[in-house]
Formats: sequence, structure tokens, C-alpha cells
Amino acid sequence: MKTVTLIPGDGIGPEVIDSAVRVIQASGAKIDFERVDAGETVMKKEGTPLPEYVFEAIRKNKVALKGPITTPIASGFRSVNVALRKRLNLYANVRPCKSLEGFKYRYSGIDITVIRENTEGLYIGKERYLDNKHTKAEAIRLITREASERIFRFAFEYTLKEKRRKITVVHKANILKYTDGIFLDAAKDVANDYPKIEFEDRIVDNMCMQLVKNPEMYDVLVCPNLFGDIISDLCAGLIGGLGMAPGANIGKKYAVFEPIHGSAPKYAGKNKVNPTATILSGVLMLKYMGMKKEADIITSAIEEAIREGKKLTYDLGGSAGTSEYTEYVISKII
Ligand code: NAD
Repeated sequence: MKTVTLIPGDGIGPEVIDSAVRVIQASGAKIDFERVDAGETVMKKEGTPLPEYVFEAIRKNKVALKGPITTPIASGFRSVNVALRKRLNLYANVRPCKSLEGFKYRYSGIDITVIRENTEGLYIGKERYLDNKHTKAEAIRLITREASERIFRFAFEYTLKEKRRKITVVHKANILKYTDGIFLDAAKDVANDYPKIEFEDRIVDNMCMQLVKNPEMYDVLVCPNLFGDIISDLCAGLIGGLGMAPGANIGKKYAVFEPIHGSAPKYAGKNKVNPTATILSGVLMLKYMGMKKEADIITSAIEEAIREGKKLTYDLGGSAGTSEYTEYVISKII
């Protein structure tokens, strides 16, 4: 038995995490979940949305499955999620967007993984007003050679391991000559060590247009922090929306798996949203932990449930609730 830290999170988090846990358990994966709370739920009691015990639990178990977290106002954090990724040095945010087989949607055959640098860029949170009236402000966009090289090494190794074919680096080096210049140079240098992997670059605005027009041309995209956040939501849209897109935050020592969507407060407690993104985050976690058989069982069950289309959640055009859809996926496992 392996133990994984479970962070249900806020808003729709507890519902989608509950679905993921039930499906993972139904797959036969030998995992124990150790629950810790973070976010709005603990803010009142602990005075912080991110108590030390959350870090201790993740450091102990090394792997966590997490729901989305709202950053409470006056919490002292710009974002709880960014703080978590930074402190655990989860430098690679991996967001695979793959069309599920048989799911009838505007696009089909999409298989794009966005790898986002998770520690730098505009997310370092260095912003300030430049005048007393707050009519002028600036933000620092930090890009270092070290972190850029690290994310490209990770991306090329990921591409090899997953038997993928091409890396596209996304940037705006024509305007951001220093910051994205460093990012692009690091990409080109690391690419030289992987001659068998196709390599190209795209300017971010053109990339957005290309992704909508010819998404089948793209395979693995590597982006600085903010572009990766935006592009991965775009890619989620290509496969059915935020309810379908899983994610992983990976560092040298720890990994935290979570859907790319947020806590969608307006749907909290309504048994309405699609838990697929969180279940598939669990699938990424199982693969990371070497439980490929269980990961494949769950993927097939989701594919079958969605292909049949009998119990889909609202975002996929159905009227099933979160729990009804979850039961249906489980029925495809057993
Ligand atoms: P959101 O992703 O929570 O929701 C945007 C919209 O997407 C929802 O209103 C809903 O229509 C749809 N949606 C999201 N998840 C869905 C699902 N599973 N099934 C079906 N539809 C779904 O984005 P937001 O409203 O901008 O953010 C809400 C809060 O979440 C904010 O406090 C934000 O900071 C936080 N957030 C947290 C994370 C994280 O924990 N990693 C990520 C993004 C946003």
C-alpha cells in the first residue's frame, strides 16, 4: 500500500476529489489516502489557507492529489496554488489535452501536452504601484537560464519517455527580447542534445491561431508560466472544456496532481460539474507511481462512459450529476 496526500480544496473541489477517490479505489489501486485541508475551509481555524501541516504531509508522502483552491481575500497569499508549487519546487506543470475516443465534439483527434514553466515569469508576484493614486503599476517578469534549461530538459525527457515526436516552444521573443530571448536560447541549446525529437518555435499569438485552426499539427508545447496557463485553457477547450483537462505539478522530489480548472464557486455543492479532469489527474498520478494497469482501467472506463453518452454532465451536453456520472464510470470498471 502506498499513501497519497489528499487535499479536497474549495468550491467544487470536495465533489470532484470524492469522485476521483472512488474511481481510483474501484480500479484496485493499492493506495491509502491521507486527507489534509487547505484553502478557505481552514482559513478561519488556522489563520492561513496553507498551514505547515499541508507541506509536512506532502513531503512525507511525496505525492498528492489536490482539488482546486480559492485564495481567500486577506489570506496573505497572492495565490495559494502558486505558493504551494513554489515552496515544493514543482517546476514542471504538465497538462495533457487528449480527445477521448468516441466523444462527439467540434474537434477530434487532439493530443497535445502543454508543459508550463511553473516557478517564474509573471507569477513571482513582484508587482507595485508607481504612484500614490494607483494609476500606474508595473510587474516583473523573471526568466532565468537555469529554470529555462530545467524545464526544457524535463520536456525533452518527457517527450522521449512518452514516445512523442515534436516539441514546439511558445514565446514572444520578438518583443520580450531579453526574457523570452533567454527562454528561446535555452530551448535551442537543449534541443541540440535531442536530435531525434523534432523541434520548432512559435510566437504565442500565432500559436493561439494555429491551435484553433490546425491543432492536429501540435504535440508537446513548452511555454513560460503565463502563456502556459492561457494556452492550456485553450487546449482544454479543444477537448470539451475545463471539466476534461487534468494536470500534474512535478518537481525533483514531490508531485501534486490536480485538474487545471478552478473551484467554480457557483457550482459548489450542486452535484453538477464534470469530475473527469480530476479523475484523469488521478490517472496521471497512478502512472507516475508506476500503476499503469490501474491507470489504463480507469481511462478505458471513462472512454466507454463518454462514448456511450448516456450519463454525461451538463458541460458535455448531458443532465447527469457529478455522482451519477461517477457511478456510471465505476460501473464500467466492475
Ligand atoms: P474555474 O475554472 O473555477 O471556473 C470557470 C468556469 O469553468 C466555471 O464557471 C464553469 O463554467 C467551468 N468549469 C470549471 N470546472 C468545471 C468542471 N469540472 N466541470 C464543468 N465545468 C467546469 O475558474 P474561475 O471561476 O476563474 O476561478 C474560481 C476560483 O478558482 C478562483 O478563486 C481562482 O483563483 C481559483 N483557481 C484555482 C485553481 C487551482 O486550484 N489550481 C486553478 C484556477 C483557478
